[in-house]
Amino acid sequence: MSDVVQIGISRRPARAAKALFDGRDLGSWRWGSRLERAIVRKVGVAVGDFGMIEAGDRVMVCMSGGKDSYVMLDALRLLQRRSPIAFSLVAVNVDQGWPGYDTAAIKAHLEKEGVAFVMENATYAEIVEAKLRPGQTPCSLCSRFRRAYLYEAADRHGATKIALGHHMDDLLETLLLNLFFSGRLASMPPRLVSDDGKHVVIRPLAYVAEDETRAFAAERGYPLVRCGCLSCGLPDQKRQVVKRMLRDLEAANPRTKRQMLAALRNVKPGHLLDPSLLALARNAVSDGDGEAPEVESLRDM
Ligand code: SF4
Repeated sequence: MSDVVQIGISRRPARAAKALFDGRDLGSWRWGSRLERAIVRKVGVAVGDFGMIEAGDRVMVCMSGGKDSYVMLDALRLLQRRSPIAFSLVAVNVDQGWPGYDTAAIKAHLEKEGVAFVMENATYAEIVEAKLRPGQTPCSLCSRFRRAYLYEAADRHGATKIALGHHMDDLLETLLLNLFFSGRLASMPPRLVSDDGKHVVIRPLAYVAEDETRAFAAERGYPLVRCGCLSCGLPDQKRQVVKRMLRDLEAANPRTKRQMLAALRNVKPGHLLDPSLLALARNAVSDGDGEAPEVESLRDM
């Protein structure tokens, strides 16, 4: 999810961005840009496809200070304005304890935008570091701590949904990571219910490409913040390896990512080798062994 590559550096916007709703009201609605409209549309489709948000939900928007978290927050704010159902948002920033993490810039942005928010201080970074074995990367341990912390924070703040800023590229990279390094055919679920059934994690940016979040972040001039951990963006991380693979594939065929997303929405269980899927496969209508058609509804996304 993270676009963080250095430690403890925040990039100030080149220009002072207008507040999201400056000059706009419901009576004379204008989109800020075509990109804004495209992103909110994709978020709306994903939210609808997977029943991510229901009437009365209080959505905890996890704000790391990376570009994707700002884009997610603004897309949900815009969706909230235009949605026929009522739901509320609370932005939550968790300082995991990595040195040099500049949360002041995030706080100032949320105050300026008038968003309900909470700044949380956690200290699990030092526990993660202490438990690391030589040569081990901190990510899986860190993710487990973060997930547990977010579940507790959701309870404290009365949140019914926990929104994470993973975008389409994150989902595709995870698919390849699982395929090449874990022997599993799986991506990130757009909607995940915790094992105890008490928490629901959603990924509203599931259909939004990273190029779009990057461009929108520049357009809006967000104060991007590096998370400060030791691991982010290191070139030898497996995620960076598949990122490069995807970049090379896209250079050869610019439709690669779109086709991969279409494939994730067009699974043929009977054409895979998992015996546990046989019952599903028997009930599926066979349409032969030809290539799967591109999903029409994604053409314009
Ligand atoms: S160690 Fe850094 S890159 Fe890894 S999960 Fe934690 S914050 Fe993310």
